[in-house]
Amino acid sequence: MLNIQVLGCSGGLSGNNNGGSTCIQLNHNILIDAGTGLNQLSLTQMHQIRHIFLTHSHMDHIAALPTFLSNQYGSEHLPVTVYAQPHTLEKLKDNIFNGDIWPELSSMTEGAEAILAFEEIQPGHSITLDGIEINAFAVDHSVPTVGYSVKSQARHFVFGADTIAGRQLTEQLNRLGHIDTLMLECAFPDELLHVAEKTKHMTPSLLQNTLQSLERQPSKLWVTHLKPNYEATLRETLAANPPHNNTVVL
Ligand SMILES: [Zn+2]
Ligand SMILES: [Zn+2]
Repeated sequence: MLNIQVLGCSGGLSGNNNGGSTCIQLNHNILIDAGTGLNQLSLTQMHQIRHIFLTHSHMDHIAALPTFLSNQYGSEHLPVTVYAQPHTLEKLKDNIFNGDIWPELSSMTEGAEAILAFEEIQPGHSITLDGIEINAFAVDHSVPTVGYSVKSQARHFVFGADTIAGRQLTEQLNRLGHIDTLMLECAFPDELLHVAEKTKHMTPSLLQNTLQSLERQPSKLWVTHLKPNYEATLRETLAANPPHNNTVVL
């Protein structure tokens, strides 16, 4: 059953939602992303995690993955499967699980079980686990990135991951039908639009435009990924001019 807990959603290493970076728990054994928010889970809760869906290769979304995986030695729930696009998996294997930064865990076992399994996904790919249907969709960020549409028992949660506004995002969101909770990022203030455009992130105005471009409004909007240096300004702007009548800035 879906029981969404945002364990972290900061755009850095401090600030909103306990200061942890992106990690969303869907139920007791499924996560989206493995940022430092993962540290909110107890060791017992970590041992329950069996599936991690990554949005992209950026550090704030994978930072806790290596140490989390080494916590899984001795867990009864192995392997942990990491689902991601080929680009993300390739970068993880080449740059993190390479024997230098961290052991190459996918070839290591605990008893007969591998500790880590990698599974490639593509945008449009759908996986159902525990009655939760998880669909990846492409968004527009500085590296190949997917957002996730998550459906369970007529409830529909959509996480846009890191993305800039634009036709691609609008079309994807319109294609998803009615959304109960839409979680979109807002990393930079409007004064830093040039930085947002270069790094492919959102500003309050871009977020506003995205909501206005939708054919159907979601029931609620969760705004996340505020960069700690701009958090106060962003909260002020979003409170003065909320992009949706049910906006929560996490
Ligand atoms: Zn990113
Ligand atoms: Zn990020």
